[in-house]
Amino acid sequence: MSGREVTVIGGGIVGCLTACLLRLRGVRVTLLEAGELGREASWAGAGILCPIHPWRYPDAFTRLVEASLARYPELQARLAAESGIDVGWRRSGLLIPFFGDEPHWRPAIDWSERFGWRLERLDGAQAQAAEPVLADGVRRALRWPEVAQLRNPRLLKATRRWMAKLGVDVRDHTPVARIRVDGGGVCGVELEDGGSLACRRLLVAAGSWSDRLLAPLGAALSIRPVKGQIVLLATRPGRVRHIVKHDEVYLVPRDDGRVLVGATMEEVGFRGGNTVAAIHSLLDGVMRMMPGLADCVIERQWMGFRPGSPDGMPFLGAIKGVPGLFVASGHYRNGVALAPITAEAMAALLCDESPPVDLAPFAPQRAVDFSSPLGYRLSTGGK
Ligand SMILES: Cc1cc2nc3c(=O)[nH]c(=O)nc-3n(C[C@H](O)[C@H](O)[C@H](O)COP(=O)(O)OP(=O)(O)OC[C@H]3O[C@@H](n4cnc5c(N)ncnc54)[C@H](O)[C@@H]3O)c2cc1C
Repeated sequence: MSGREVTVIGGGIVGCLTACLLRLRGVRVTLLEAGELGREASWAGAGILCPIHPWRYPDAFTRLVEASLARYPELQARLAAESGIDVGWRRSGLLIPFFGDEPHWRPAIDWSERFGWRLERLDGAQAQAAEPVLADGVRRALRWPEVAQLRNPRLLKATRRWMAKLGVDVRDHTPVARIRVDGGGVCGVELEDGGSLACRRLLVAAGSWSDRLLAPLGAALSIRPVKGQIVLLATRPGRVRHIVKHDEVYLVPRDDGRVLVGATMEEVGFRGGNTVAAIHSLLDGVMRMMPGLADCVIERQWMGFRPGSPDGMPFLGAIKGVPGLFVASGHYRNGVALAPITAEAMAALLCDESPPVDLAPFAPQRAVDFSSPLGYRLSTGGK
C-alpha cells in the first residue's frame, strides 16, 4: 500500500474506472456519487468507440483516442474476468453512406491514411450489399471495419463489481455540496446531508455537474450539459450490421437484434425527458437512411446529459492554484471511448507520476477556443 488516499466525486465511467486504477496502485479510494452509480451520461450513451467525424478534431485528440481504444481489448477482458460480465465489446465496424457529394469524403480518407486506420471504399452496390436496408440512391460509402462498440450499462455494472472487489469505498446517494480548501489546498468536502469528509487529494469527475463544484473556487471550466435523446428499436439480429452514420443520425446494431438510434444535441440545461420533436427527428433520420426499418418496433427511449466542453475536448489534469485538486471532465461525446486513457492518466497524475500520454492539450488551464465548431455551441451531428 502506498499510504496515499484519494477522494473521487462522480460515479460515471470516468470516476469509477479511475478509482479502479488507483486501487491497483495501492491508493485508498473513496468515491462519492450523488445518485445511483453510473446512471447518468455513462449509462445513456450509445457505446460507439470512435468519435463521430474524428478528422475534424486536432491531431492531439486523435492520439488520445488511439491510446484509449488500444486499451479496450485488455480492459474488457479484465472486466469480464473480475466481474463475470461481458461488456459487449465487439468490432462491428462503422459505415458512412454517401448519397451525394458530401464534404466528409476526402477529409475522412486523408485522416484515415495519415493515422493508419483501416478504411474500405465501397461503391453503391457494395454499400447496399454491406447494409441491405440502406435507402436507394447511395452512391458510395466508407467503412472502418475495426471500429468497435460496447454496451454501456454492462460496462458500468462490470466496473462497479470490480470496484467492490478492489475495495473502493463507494458511497452512492451522497451528493457533494462544496469542496473545502485551506492554506494547503484541498482539505475536504461538505456533503448535502450536512456531513463532511477530510481529504487532501480530490478528483472531480462529476460530468455535466463539474462546474457546480469548481465555480465557487474560481476554477469553472465552462462545462455545460448537452442533452442527447436515444430511441431503441427491436428487429431481427443482423438486419443492421454496422454502426451506420449519416447526417444527424446514427444507428448502432446490437447482437440481440436491437438497434439504437441516436442522438439529439440539445442545449436545454438540465431539462430531462424525451420529447416529441426529438423522437420525431430521430425516426425521420431512420426513414431517410434506412426506410427498410419502418416495421421495427419502438422498444423504449431515454436521454442523458453529455458533459459538453467549449472545444469538444476533455479537461484532464490538476487545477492550478488549488493544490490537491484534479479534474477529469468535459468528455462531451466521447467519454466512453476515452475512459481507459483518462483513468490511466489521472491515476498516474494523482500518484505524482507521469501520464502515459501528453496531457498538455487537455490541461484545465489551456487556452480554450470558444469558437471551435467541435464545442457545444455550434455542434452538429449527434453522439
Ligand atoms: C445520448 C448520448 C450518447 C453518447 N454516445 C457516446 C458514444 O457513443 N461514445 C462515447 O464515447 N461517448 C458517448 N457519449 C458521451 C459519454 O456518455 C460521456 O462523455 C461520458 O459518459 C461522461 O462520463 P462521466 O463519468 O464524465 O459523466 P457521467 O456519466 O455523467 O457521471 C458523472 C457522475 O457524477 C455524479 N455527480 C454530479 N455531481 C455530483 C456531486 N455534487 N456529488 C457527487 N456526485 C456527483 C453524477 O450523478 C454522475 O453519476 C454519449 C452521451 C449521451 C448522453
